[in-house]
Amino acid sequence: METQEMIREGHFITREEAEEILRLPDSELAALMGAANALRLRYKGKKVSIQLLTNVRSGGCSQDCAYCAQSCVSGADIEKYRFVRDEKLYGDDKLVSEHHLARHCIGLSGISFSDGEIEELAGRIRKMKENGTHICCSIGFLTEPQAIMLKEAGLDRINHNLNSGRNFYPQICSTHTYEQRLENIRMLKRLGFELCCGGIVGMGESAGDIADMLCDVREISPESVPINFLLPIKGTRLADRDISSLTYEYCMKVLCLARLMIPEADIRCAAGREVYFRGHEAELLSVVDSVFAAGYLTAGGQGIEDTKKLIRDLGYEPEVESD
Ligand code: SF4
Repeated sequence: METQEMIREGHFITREEAEEILRLPDSELAALMGAANALRLRYKGKKVSIQLLTNVRSGGCSQDCAYCAQSCVSGADIEKYRFVRDEKLYGDDKLVSEHHLARHCIGLSGISFSDGEIEELAGRIRKMKENGTHICCSIGFLTEPQAIMLKEAGLDRINHNLNSGRNFYPQICSTHTYEQRLENIRMLKRLGFELCCGGIVGMGESAGDIADMLCDVREISPESVPINFLLPIKGTRLADRDISSLTYEYCMKVLCLARLMIPEADIRCAAGREVYFRGHEAELLSVVDSVFAAGYLTAGGQGIEDTKKLIRDLGYEPEVESD
């Protein structure tokens, strides 16, 4: 199919077309970005939401996700703790509130939790909600009663990524399945959580795998879609992964495709923004409407003030949700 026809607004992109879009020659990138930008402006205007991420539990995870520094099979040199100091957690939440950032994202390593641990977390969420911050929690598999406990504590959103395409998933993780992830997400959706669901690009998957993943994300219809670009971490199985395929053009095609397929969601350029889009920040914001400031779970990033300044300098407005 002709590119113009495939990216025309209102056209439902099939799985095959999604893959075709990722394989378009770079000479078609401008047309693709034009279509993605029109949808960005229609659904998000000039707003950019900024998230701050706190790693609440770090390291010691029983799972073997190839990219993750917190996995038990990773030898990455990271700080490990069971619960972040209250001072740090509440301090970060205050920062989110004072800087009027869109959301405080909190992440916990691990795949399953005891009811006691969830109750402990719920207590901290209740306290942070007193600041009025919008909170999203990235957490492994929850039982339904645990998810209800967090909902009753005021948790607004849960992040649970698909990470990659169904067929590729066994190559990056052998300790749980793609289907388990989907089931967990379906349960959270049934309970009425806002959802954040995306993946990681650059782990050795094909364009078809990314197309598969985005088709499943579209079906989930989450409020936000974080796209991470692999930052190989020393000590993890993907430490020496060849990332030469992660050109600016390819990364941009993935983000444009996410915008075309799930246009009304927040499309977030998460990990890798400062590396793969350096010097292309204006182009990036013409497609995505959401970024992290002050780093990722185990990797650093651009500070809050610098991120806000960049957004304003490029003619966009940091979104204000917390007050
Ligand atoms: S389940 Fe989460 S914390 Fe554990 S290894 Fe996988 S990505 Fe890392």
